[in-house]
Amino acid sequence: MKLKSINPHDQSVVGELKISTQQDVKRAVKKAKKAFGPWQALSVAERVEYIKRFRTKVAKNKEKIAKLTTLEMGKPLQQSLDDVSWELEFLDYYIKKGPEYLADETVYKKGKEHFRVSYEPYGVCACIAPWNFPLSMANSGVIPALIAGNTVILKPSEYTSLSQKIIIDLLQKSRIPDGVANLLIGGGEVGKMLIDEPIDLAWFTGSTKVGQEIYRKCGKKFIKALLEMGGSSPGIIFADANLDLTMDNLYWARFLNCGQVCTAIKRLFVEMPVYRKVVNLFVDKLKTVKVGNPMDKKTDIGPLVSQKQLKLLKEQVADAISKGAKVEIGGKQPEGKEFEKGNYFEPTVLTDITTDMRVFTEETFGPVLPIIPFKTEEEAIRLANRTEYGLSAEIYTTDLEKGERVAKQIEAGTVAINTDDFFKPECPFGGYKKSGMGREYGEIGMKEFSQVKLIAVVRP
Ligand code: NAD
Repeated sequence: MKLKSINPHDQSVVGELKISTQQDVKRAVKKAKKAFGPWQALSVAERVEYIKRFRTKVAKNKEKIAKLTTLEMGKPLQQSLDDVSWELEFLDYYIKKGPEYLADETVYKKGKEHFRVSYEPYGVCACIAPWNFPLSMANSGVIPALIAGNTVILKPSEYTSLSQKIIIDLLQKSRIPDGVANLLIGGGEVGKMLIDEPIDLAWFTGSTKVGQEIYRKCGKKFIKALLEMGGSSPGIIFADANLDLTMDNLYWARFLNCGQVCTAIKRLFVEMPVYRKVVNLFVDKLKTVKVGNPMDKKTDIGPLVSQKQLKLLKEQVADAISKGAKVEIGGKQPEGKEFEKGNYFEPTVLTDITTDMRVFTEETFGPVLPIIPFKTEEEAIRLANRTEYGLSAEIYTTDLEKGERVAKQIEAGTVAINTDDFFKPECPFGGYKKSGMGREYGEIGMKEFSQVKLIAVVRP
């Protein structure tokens, strides 16, 4: 059976790959188990040498990776190119810091006692990835897992199999030993089969629903699961905010990648005195945005990844309208020949929001921004936390004391004050509540892929 990769702009077939069978899954796990011993035996510095070669190959293939990303999931080409540049920075960080973070650490030394901590891999790590940032989201699991000495099996998203298959192809071209980096192709069924095999660690980025299922299965086996899941991140604008900076940040925070970002601001709370001004500024901004073919250099917002996502978004918006939401701009699929076949949705601002609307209670993975007024700091915090998610939040104010006070009370793994730019290789990232478990990036993230062993030595 073949998996077809579909271009969300016109539903044409970008390419196809053979779907992995149950036998393929078993074979991949067996190969990864066999390769684990020798891979684990290498030093971190030796393993990093392979990642250095991989980094060079990613840089060489930048245009190819970016073009495939755009064709498979509809991200404007410049954003796909930026994604690759961004990922190269992360690779540089892992290469530089991996050996430092995973080196043995003396934790206790007294007289004849010398106790140290040593970081050891788990074994075979199943990596199950989403489609929204194909290269970097898959690499967030694959690369630190490998550096820590695990062997990996990547199951790309069914929407971006070609862009994510490249990772394993380039690792193999970097002469990584056979069985260390493996690939399986297919949808959720293949992911399920992989999780059901005797893996030693699961890394997953995707929806909360699937993450919870994986967590339950890993719990039964008693293996660790690193989970990066959905979000409905709040933005809070106080009346004293610098609106120029705020509007620019929040445009990107909601509409980058057609709104398909886990940390996108999916509910925006604005203090009463500037509420109408902010709504009008968003409407004016969105009037200038070009929606269209993501291969066209002038396009700001491309199509949604799939017809399934488009249908879900339309249902969420229809639900809001039926419950009394006002469409300030957008709210429907754009008209015209260019949009006939694609999964397009107009960038949308909704007001008159109530907390029972699906755009408030669910994650909206598309270019739709509900804007809600608030009167007091307490009300903003209460509304922001009124969600099962806890991935991130953004607060805009010139009063940093207030910003810090509010940040402390927000239930999220990341709270940014006056910025949207917090994805840095040094900064740990992950969710509170149903947005995830464990952390990626930074020293904390790197160590998640290792077991901690204390070696307590007493000189006789
Ligand atoms: P998804 O959960 O539908 O799929 C993610 C991956 O899981 C895919 O590879 C899919 O084939 C696989 N899968 C599906 N069902 C499975 C099962 N039962 N067992 C094992 N694997 C299975 O998510 P998606 O649509 O690809 O991605 C969008 C979601 O990802 C959004 O909710 C978004 O917020 C989230 N996301 C989170 C982060 C983060 O860092 N927290 C980053 C990017 C995306």
